[in-house]
Amino acid sequence: MATGIVGEFLDLKAETDADVLAMQCGDFYEFFADDAELVADELDLTVSQKSSHGSSYPMAGVPLSELTPYVKALVERGYRVAVADQYETDDGHAREITRVVTPGTMIETTGEDARYLAAVVSGGDDGGRGGNSGGTAPSENGRSDADRVDGGPYGLALADVTTGRFLVTEVADAGDLRAELYRFDPAEVLPGPALRNDDDLLAAVRDDLSGSVSLFDAEAFAPGRATHAVREQFGRETADSVGIDSELALRAAGAVLGYVEETGAGVLASMTRLTAYGDDDHVELDATTQRNLEITETMRGDAEGTLFETVDHTVTAAGGRLLREWLTRPRRDRDALERRLDAVEALASAALARDRLRETLGDASDLERLASRATSGSAGARELLSVRDTLAVVPALADAVGESDLADSPVAGVLDGIDRNRAAEWREELAGALAEDPPKTKTQGGLIRKGYDDDLDELIASHEEAKTWLDTLADREKRQYGLSHVTVDRNKTDGYYIQVGKSVADQVPDHYREIKTLKNSKRFVTDELAEREREVLRLEEARGELEYELFEELREHVAGDSELLQDVGRAIAKLDALASLATHAAGNDWTRPELTDDRRLDVDAGRHPVVERTTDFVPNDLALDDEHGFLIVTGPNMSGKSTYMRQAALIQLLAQAGAFVPARAAEVGLVDGIYTRVGALDELAQGRSTFMVEMQELSNILHSATADSLVILDEVGRGTATYDGISIAWAATEYLHNEVRARTLFATHYHELTTLADHLPRVANVHVAVDERDGDVTFLRTVREGPTNRSYGVHVADLAGVPEPVVSRADKVLDRLREEKAIEAKGGTGGDAGSQTGADDTRQVVFDLSSGSFAGGTENGTSTTGDEREAAAGDAASAAGESSGTAEGESRGTVKRVDGLDPETEAVIEELADVDVAATAPVELLSRVQEWQARLDDSD
Ligand code: ADP
Repeated sequence: MATGIVGEFLDLKAETDADVLAMQCGDFYEFFADDAELVADELDLTVSQKSSHGSSYPMAGVPLSELTPYVKALVERGYRVAVADQYETDDGHAREITRVVTPGTMIETTGEDARYLAAVVSGGDDGGRGGNSGGTAPSENGRSDADRVDGGPYGLALADVTTGRFLVTEVADAGDLRAELYRFDPAEVLPGPALRNDDDLLAAVRDDLSGSVSLFDAEAFAPGRATHAVREQFGRETADSVGIDSELALRAAGAVLGYVEETGAGVLASMTRLTAYGDDDHVELDATTQRNLEITETMRGDAEGTLFETVDHTVTAAGGRLLREWLTRPRRDRDALERRLDAVEALASAALARDRLRETLGDASDLERLASRATSGSAGARELLSVRDTLAVVPALADAVGESDLADSPVAGVLDGIDRNRAAEWREELAGALAEDPPKTKTQGGLIRKGYDDDLDELIASHEEAKTWLDTLADREKRQYGLSHVTVDRNKTDGYYIQVGKSVADQVPDHYREIKTLKNSKRFVTDELAEREREVLRLEEARGELEYELFEELREHVAGDSELLQDVGRAIAKLDALASLATHAAGNDWTRPELTDDRRLDVDAGRHPVVERTTDFVPNDLALDDEHGFLIVTGPNMSGKSTYMRQAALIQLLAQAGAFVPARAAEVGLVDGIYTRVGALDELAQGRSTFMVEMQELSNILHSATADSLVILDEVGRGTATYDGISIAWAATEYLHNEVRARTLFATHYHELTTLADHLPRVANVHVAVDERDGDVTFLRTVREGPTNRSYGVHVADLAGVPEPVVSRADKVLDRLREEKAIEAKGGTGGDAGSQTGADDTRQVVFDLSSGSFAGGTENGTSTTGDEREAAAGDAASAAGESSGTAEGESRGTVKRVDGLDPETEAVIEELADVDVAATAPVELLSRVQEWQARLDDSD
């Protein structure tokens, strides 16, 4: 057991659950033992050895004044850092932990992004009591939630200590929870007691988020304590009036407050803006969809190449944060969206006014953050000067808007929300109070302007007078005593002194007392000088103290009106975000979407907002409506299917963010959710795909989407054997078409699915066209009606560089297989399909694997129940399951039907049919094709 200083360090370390401890030892903060190694590794500090009672320990240290950047760097890397300070006692000194700086509670952050601390409480977290507030709500469309694996509901609280924002909500299930966490990307998450053992959730948090998980006192999550904490923080009235009616949400809020109190010195005060948000107005965007659509982060995890980066032309940090929020939280409130669009439109068509506005906005500092720092007591004079300067931007903004074409637009309305008179008063008060170029330290004086306070003015006058006396002393002495070479100066050891050159040192008057001899001069003091010195020091100290006092008062006064600063900050952010959208729209020929409550998405010459920036983009139309709400998109690999579908989703999303869209014209029916699942291939590249994940995502979509949703499916069922895959894709299509009735775009390489259009009335085929001449494929990037006439696997083999003989042989084999109808399943009784009427909307078609064709559906389509359909889909799936279960065996329907082939040829055909060309390495394809050729030659 270590004793002495290291022992003390280890004892303190044991008291805290922080990852690292910095302990003050005189003028340094020291890290010992493992902590020293860690800090040295992370921050390149030099480690030395500290001997303590016979043992030796690694030690690293930083000077007192330099701790902050080190703590910041550690916290930004995800560590929680405890700081122990030294204090004087009667018999020497002692140390105690004064604060713990954690990723979610660090107020001094350099980044511009919001920095959230989150707490999550689950329904299973009964906080020592039985039951929960919510209970699982029945799903809207009547589908049962009983089989859902994701628990819930959950209470969620999010605090951004850098701006004082505090959000609480309750979400229904784990999917929603993940979506919210993904959207806010908290720096630190506090799971409630029951969630600490929820490995799925913790893993999801770790996978989805860049932040860290901290375990916090279970007591803090208890309902009673939480209620108390929330009322204490926000006042009983606010707490009651914002209406946190979910106990789970309240408990999460309580935990956040408890944690902030325990860790961050002073930070609690900055949290003033409580918002309870529900979800009637938002568009469901699960974490997977946010990732797939690359809204704020690409699939690879970069910020570049995202939707946000594309449309972000904001000039302030707060504007950037708000724009990000708009994009990650699209809305359904049509009036609100129209208002936003009105403003964007006005700004888009007033280029000069917009430029002037943006230039003015560029002078604004981050008021939300400044207000928060004023409230937490960490703002210095320079911060308050920034507040003053930013308030000064308000009239300039009003001019920029009022003196332009924007005067009667909703843009002007943004500024109406703030009390401009009060802003002007504050600006004057701060301007009258603060000195122009304050020192960094708050206790030295120089913070407050003359004329602000009478007492201070008196002090300043005396101080300045005394200083003038000192400043002119040298001249007086020269004159009076005829001395040359005299200066008056001060330093730390000698205080004020009169310095006389050696040559004249013997001419000084008697009342000079010598205090020091230097090489070329001598230093003297006089009684009067000493007297004046005392006076100056006293005045300096008094002035410093009084100025500090006045400054603190001023800051508290500002903090007391932080509401106004937040209002101004929000208005600035809003103008900036609107101007940013307008700038992008104007510069890229985007158009205002026409919002409608009809169930349609009608896009004329649409483009992909991100891809169009780097490509010579070929615009495409899209029409999804009640008549044709389900498009099956086919086309060769790399032809542009995913781009086309994502472009649809992004146009939908942009419209519901209140933005213009990349299209010639767009009629956008508002949706309640956008759901996507993208092909296994894309994910394989990230090493995260399993068939299970694919099916979970599909399952979530089938459960959650409604007739008002937009669904994008980019390949379904690729992660499993062909027939399983087809069957699942088939059944999912029917379910989405018949039951969910969501607007859907489904890209598939299962050519078989295109025949569904013959049977399901709202399904239509489109394909991305290619031009094929002399065996060469040119991608046209044009979407046309109807299915592709073939699948292009062999072409991909060609593109991938598989040798020509193999490609042409594969082509021949494929042709032969086609002729023999061994692979391509045929549509069912075509005549029937042709006579379908609208009433037969829910008609069921079954892909019969044993006959290899599609059986027509129930004659009386309208009477088909969900159960029947499920059973039918189940049949198809289980038929597929059986056949794949006997992959080696002889029961493959398609193969069995081929008459007159020898078993070896059958086997080759079967293997060929099963190859997922796009997912197989060219070299492997090559060797397999060679092998098949050999076997076919043999069997011939
Ligand atoms: P698929 O999903 O069919 O495999 P992608 O959508 O991934 O194809 O598109 C393949 C490539 O084609 C992408 O790199 C994209 O940049 C380009 N592309 C797609 N659509 C267009 C278009 N309309 N105009 C120009 N380039 C496009």
